[in-house]
Amino acid sequence: MTAHTDLSGISIPPGLLPADGRFGAGPSRVRDAQIEALAAAGRGPLGTSHRQAGVKDLVRRVRAGLAELLALPEGHEIVLGNGGSTAFWDIAALCLIERQAQTVVIGEFSAKFAAEIDAASHLEPALRCEAAPGQGVVPSAEPRADALALPHNETSTGVMLPPRRPEGAPEEQLLLVDATSAAGGVAVDLAGIDAYYFAPQKALGSDGGLWLCALSPAAIERAERLEADAGRWVPAFLSLTSALTNSRKDQTLNTPAVATLLLMAEQIEWMLGQGGLAWADARTRTSSGILYNWASQREETTPFVADAAFRSQVVVTLDLAEHIDASALTALLRTVGIVDIEPYRKLGRNQLRIAVFPSVPPEDVEALIAVLEHVLDRC
Ligand SMILES: *Cc1c(COP(=O)(O)O)cnc(C)c1O
Repeated sequence: MTAHTDLSGISIPPGLLPADGRFGAGPSRVRDAQIEALAAAGRGPLGTSHRQAGVKDLVRRVRAGLAELLALPEGHEIVLGNGGSTAFWDIAALCLIERQAQTVVIGEFSAKFAAEIDAASHLEPALRCEAAPGQGVVPSAEPRADALALPHNETSTGVMLPPRRPEGAPEEQLLLVDATSAAGGVAVDLAGIDAYYFAPQKALGSDGGLWLCALSPAAIERAERLEADAGRWVPAFLSLTSALTNSRKDQTLNTPAVATLLLMAEQIEWMLGQGGLAWADARTRTSSGILYNWASQREETTPFVADAAFRSQVVVTLDLAEHIDASALTALLRTVGIVDIEPYRKLGRNQLRIAVFPSVPPEDVEALIAVLEHVLDRC
């Protein structure tokens, strides 16, 4: 055991601080302009019926905006409902996986979906393709699986995977991509992805509580067929076809969080105004690139994801040298308003996890580095 350096005497000059100190991986920073739009909406949609034009118009803005942002292929549809991405795992287990799925498990979030599949009595246990935390893996074709589940970005470790079907995978196999922390921050080609699902509180810089999904025609067909099967009980709340029917009418099955919808509509339209997903992708590449470069040069910091090809451009994980106590460092930074750069709680590493979603300007990343330099220089 190396002794930890004492950080208690270090003070951080206010001039170094980023304009906004929120670097969390979710809920992530909500821009001031979104909050102002929410306040300006006043008595408009807030506190009014979600079956009337005011709230339906918000759902319409979210669906149309996402279709444009994600360049939704012909025939694909944007569907949404309540419960966040965690609810979508159950929806997928019931309405999209027929008998057995192959799952890529590379961290906490991908493991949770695999565990849910294992626990489902109507499904065979998941066929796992695993890699240790901090590593990526590209699955090979699994002929027994009728669905393949993989995370586009594993938020717990900062590993990004190409959301692609393996060569030789069965034609009817659905590709289900957990894009919770990728959607809106990373370029993607949805052709060939059957369910690209996410939640608003990560790259989309809004509040949590909803799930959203870009569904392919094949996925819609699968859900219609599985839900019609009398042998499978699909609770109404988890029915993908009811979510679809409601989404087509710019509604949700039950009452949504109206403020979340408004924050998200504002964020999507802001991104479109800046240059859409290509702009967002370039911005997160820039921000993460600055961090990885810096960390590779500095002796006390090492990118956790050794293989640069798998390094996330939205969630940067950096291991710290043993003599720097990450929890003392993050506690010190909290005192000056830099928050949520602790590692994923269950990972248990001496690490920083820094999210650089599109709402985080690269200048704030530079400022964060200046603060980290200031502290590390005094260790
Ligand atoms: C945050 C996250 C989830 C869980 O999202 P909820 O909306 O809280 O259910 C699932 N998968 C990934 C990759 C995530 O980052």
